[in-house]
Amino acid sequence: MGNTLIKKLRAYGYTWTGMKPISYRQALRSDREVYLLYPDNTEGAWDSNNKQDLKAHYENGGFFGVEYADNEKSPYLCPICGEPLTFTTIAHVDDNSAFALFQCADCDLTISVRDMVQEIQPKAVMS
Ligand SMILES: [Zn+2]
Repeated sequence: MGNTLIKKLRAYGYTWTGMKPISYRQALRSDREVYLLYPDNTEGAWDSNNKQDLKAHYENGGFFGVEYADNEKSPYLCPICGEPLTFTTIAHVDDNSAFALFQCADCDLTISVRDMVQEIQPKAVMS
């Protein structure tokens, strides 16, 4: 399911892979900071006092996300062993450019998002 949501999010136009997509229901229940994601590849922090905002974004076909926590399991799969990768850190290239790094605990492999987009074929993740 995670990968399906990722694919839909990419098709929608949002590509920052340091953001973990979550469903509307998960956004409503989340105790983390929730972001409203937009098809022009921007996001805005949701004011959790304003449930109407969340609903309007959902009804408008919008997506939701939370920033990955350290060592949180992602929907991305290791290209070698197929295990879900965990988030490790954000690597800053310069002031305007950064990418998320994920790691496979089994292979001890660290992979950047840009590598993953090309190498990882979407597969179903059991959860
Ligand atoms: Zn692996």
